[in-house]
Order: sequence, then C-alpha cells, then structure tokens
Amino acid sequence: MERIFDADPYQTEFDARVTACRPCKAGFEAELDRTAFYPEGGGQPADAGSLGGARVLDVQERGGRILHTLDRPLEEGACVHGIIDWERRFSHMQLHSGEHIASGIICRRFGYHNVGFHMGHEEVTVDFDGPLTWEQLMEAEREANRVIWQDLPVRVTYPSRRELETLDYRSKKEIDGPVRIVEIPQADCCACCGTHVRRTGEIGAVKFLSLMNYKGGVRAAMLCGMRALEDYERKTDEILELSSLLSAPAARLAQAVRRLKEENGQKDMAMAALYRRLFESLAERIPESGPALAICEPDLPPTQLRFFCNCLMEKQKADLLLVCTGDDQTGYSYCAASRSVDLRAPGKILNEKLDGRGGGSSQMIQGTFHAPWEKIRRCFYEICPEET
Ligand SMILES: [Zn+2]
Repeated sequence: MERIFDADPYQTEFDARVTACRPCKAGFEAELDRTAFYPEGGGQPADAGSLGGARVLDVQERGGRILHTLDRPLEEGACVHGIIDWERRFSHMQLHSGEHIASGIICRRFGYHNVGFHMGHEEVTVDFDGPLTWEQLMEAEREANRVIWQDLPVRVTYPSRRELETLDYRSKKEIDGPVRIVEIPQADCCACCGTHVRRTGEIGAVKFLSLMNYKGGVRAAMLCGMRALEDYERKTDEILELSSLLSAPAARLAQAVRRLKEENGQKDMAMAALYRRLFESLAERIPESGPALAICEPDLPPTQLRFFCNCLMEKQKADLLLVCTGDDQTGYSYCAASRSVDLRAPGKILNEKLDGRGGGSSQMIQGTFHAPWEKIRRCFYEICPEET
C-alpha cells in the first residue's frame, strides 16, 4: 500500500488498482494498492475528490488500511484514475504547516504544549496546556509571520531510533514503525503524519482570531493562507457595511458604537421620565376603586407595564391590580400586583382560562393572555371581586 501523500503531497492525480470494494453504510468502500488521498488524522480532515468517476466522500485509515468511501462502486482489479480536490487539500496544508509554526513558537517562547488541534469549517482551533494573554498570542503571531515571509524550506525526515533519542521535537510519544519528523527552521520540529507545504512562504499568513480559557489552559482559533484571506474579505465587507450604517470611518467603529449606546441610554432615561409623567396623569383619571381593579391601556411597551402597575400601587388605587396592553387580535401583555393577596394561585387560574403564560412572585406576576379584553376583565373580577 503506497502512501503517495507522504512522499509527495503535491501529487494531485494518480493511477491505482482497486484491491477491494464493498458496500458500506455511506455508499461503497474501496481499497487501492496506492493512493494520494490523505485519510483523516492528526487533526487534518480527509481529502475529497474523484476516483474512477466515483465521488470520494471520506477517507479513513483503519488498521494500516486506507478506506475510500465512494458514492458508487468500483470494479475489483480495475485500474482507476484518482483526482484530489487540490484547493481543499492545499488549504489544509497551509493551515497545518501554519499551525506547526505557531505551536512551535508558543512552545519555545512560553513553554505551553499544543494538546488539541481541530480543523473546522469556520476556523482551526488549537488548545494549549497553559494560560496565554492576547498580547502574548499576538507576539507569537508576528514571529510566525516573520518565519513565513522568510520562505524557509520545510523538511520531512524519518530519523533512526538512535537519532530520535537525542532529537528535541514536539509530539514525542512511543509509536511502532518509523517516526515522521516535520522540521521548520527557526520555528518547529514535530512528529506528524499530515501533509505540509514545501516552503513556509506558501502559507501566506497566520492570523489568530480569538482566545478563550479552556480546560485549565487556552483555546485559540486561527486561520492561514487562503482561509485567512477569505475571513479577511468577509470581515471587510461587514466593516464597510457597519461603517456606512454608523457614518463613521472603519478605524473608529467602536467609538461610534460607544457613542450610540450612550445616546441610547440617555434616551431610555428620558423616556422613563416621560412614562412616569404619563402614568401619573393616567392614574389621576382613575377613581379610587374597590379592592380589585383591571385596566387596559393600549400601545404601551410591555416592559413599561410593571412601572404603570407600581405607580398605581403607590397611589393606592386598589389592593389587587391588573394592567394590560395589547389588542384582541394579537393578545395582551399583563402585569398584576398586590400587597395583600398572594398572586401565584390566581395567576395560574387566569393563565388557564385565558390561554396565558407567565408568572412571578407572590406580589407581582407578568405574562401574556390570548383572549379578548372583555373576557380577561370578566375572569379577573370573577376571581378577584371588586367588592368583598
Ligand atoms: Zn501536525
């Protein structure tokens, strides 16, 4: 079984003989005498492409055998032509080599090891076994990019057991068979089975996107090369749109948003004061009533109901109050308050009778009713009579 991707990760087409093919859950599973399809492993996803006219859906390695999952069967013994989806593979190579450089630099500078590596659809995540600040990560990023711009050769070797004993490299663990070492001068030396670029310049750029605490260490998200450029394009579009929406230059967006939030807060305060005056003048028009009072005030924001309720309580309009806003078509938001009656049980009954939702404390409940106002009013006074 010849692994073409190990010796030459740049070979995008190859001919091979089908040694086995059988149906499997996802389609058909074929084995070849040689392959350039990289099987998922070491954090790098499987290659895609075509094989003898069939689509390659997945490639996995099991017990030293490489299994190609296909959408249709191949004839055993037949000679087939394979074509690798090069754009996808090259993107994986840029990401994988870039990750080695960044991990190698972080290991050397800060002493933390890469303990998890995953290439996702959105971004690549790398987990380190110690705390890192954003500034330290940016420092490592700058150094990684300097290594990339020097266009250094990436060397893949299989050192002897004796050489390995004295070699300082990452991912050192006991494995059977030859150990594949990927060496990037000035940056990294690591045991790895993945596909890598020939020279660091091909990576283009390394960019970290985020950093969070994770399992006693940190998880950093990053992108390289083509994927970093795509991300930059998306973010540039987003920033241009934000810049136009906020009428602010791209470099001062945060400042513009801060100002907007401040203005918004001032407006909220002004509005609360106006509502307070509205509620007080509405309360004046409500005569002193009995123990229970239900009123509906259309066109109030549901968030203001609580304040209206409080205002009416302060002015002692009733022992038990129900305030609603809304209309018969779309339903009503409500707030009920009382200082003498525990509202939880009557609230439950009202919700059942009026297709409602909501709850709260013994003194105040809030929610929605889906029933006409007349029915809400009737039910409320049935449970909470106006006169006792
Ligand atoms: Zn690797």
